[in-house]
Amino acid sequence: MKVAVLGLGIMGSGMARQLLAAGFEVSVWNRSADKAAPLGEAGARVAATPAEAATGAAVVVAMLADDAVSRAVWTGEGGALAAMDAGTIVIESSTLTGGWVKELAGLATARGVGFLEAPVTGSRDQAAQGALRFLVGGDVDVLAAARSAFDAMGSAVVHLGPVGSAATVKLANNFLCGVQAASLAEAVALFERQGLDVEQAVAILTDGAPGSPIVKAVSRRMLDRAYDPHFLVPLMAKDLGYAGQTLAEVGITSAIADAARQRFLEADGAGHGRYDIAAIVEPLRKA
Ligand code: NAP
Repeated sequence: MKVAVLGLGIMGSGMARQLLAAGFEVSVWNRSADKAAPLGEAGARVAATPAEAATGAAVVVAMLADDAVSRAVWTGEGGALAAMDAGTIVIESSTLTGGWVKELAGLATARGVGFLEAPVTGSRDQAAQGALRFLVGGDVDVLAAARSAFDAMGSAVVHLGPVGSAATVKLANNFLCGVQAASLAEAVALFERQGLDVEQAVAILTDGAPGSPIVKAVSRRMLDRAYDPHFLVPLMAKDLGYAGQTLAEVGITSAIADAARQRFLEADGAGHGRYDIAAIVEPLRKA
């Protein structure tokens, strides 16, 4: 089976490598050519446009920054959707709003192309190891037809319902992660400003009730100032914005999502936009 991957960032590059390792014929496209070249060396066909990558592919996977980028890559000039044959399948794995994925699903269906939204949990390391969890919204028969591609990229696939349901769950997932990371940053800065033994104080948090996987992982990176990106600061700001919008659509005004988002925007504005989310502690650290 031929599979195309659009977007070779932190996540998409690992996913494309897993598809190659599983023996799929893989074509790839990325806006910045430097990230596509190593995939070419690993055996993928590097395309000049999304449409070129999608031509002849049975499944086209996208792993892109946000709604606007997804829209441009699927439907803009040289976009992938117009190049896909009837009966082929879109897997849109970027973290996006339910509104946009439903619109994209409609555009795919109108062309006779199957559509699955499939945002993921797991991060850089899980993408590189083929250990992502896919949250899927869409038709179960389409999911069954694309199953071998999912199995190459991930270790679990959870069907959540119609298109849009996975976006909601994924955004809630990142809402809770973002809020924890933001509150952790404030607590770490508090310990530092009071001159406490920060390792000891943070261990009380990580060993106790607040010690969730995200708090454990991000606190270590904050203490080590290890900001090599697993998940970038501006993408968490994006997800908290999308989560806030989604909550507002059902009448819930989330001051919590908004306050956490502000911490990520502050860090982005302070020059930490290319770093891991752990860098949100930096603007709070005492000069
Ligand atoms: P990333 O490394 O920043 O990759 C973003 C991708 O989007 C790159 O391929 C990038 O191309 C492309 N892109 C950005 N702006 C573009 C534009 N204007 N036109 C065309 N392409 C553009 O981020 P990532 O971590 O792989 O995240 C990708 C998606 O996965 C996001 O939706 C993110 O929220 C989601 N996600 C990430 C994680 C994680 O832990 N990292 C986990 C779950 C879900 P360039 O290389 O040219 O910039």
